[in-house]
Amino acid sequence: MPNLKPYTDQASDAIARLTGMRTLRCPAPGCTLRIRYRAVSPDEADRLAALAHDHTRHGIRK
Ligand SMILES: [Zn+2]
Repeated sequence: MPNLKPYTDQASDAIARLTGMRTLRCPAPGCTLRIRYRAVSPDEADRLAALAHDHTRHGIRK
């Protein structure tokens, strides 16, 4: 049995893919923001993607 504990994060991403869940990550260096969603409308998905990719909208306080 392989030890899966170090790969919890990757495993949760794999599970997210299997369940149809999407994960958005902020491209800003050092920013760990993630937004996960599932079964939203295309418009809502666009809004969430815009929010995740615009670091100024969630990275103001530091
Ligand atoms: Zn960010």
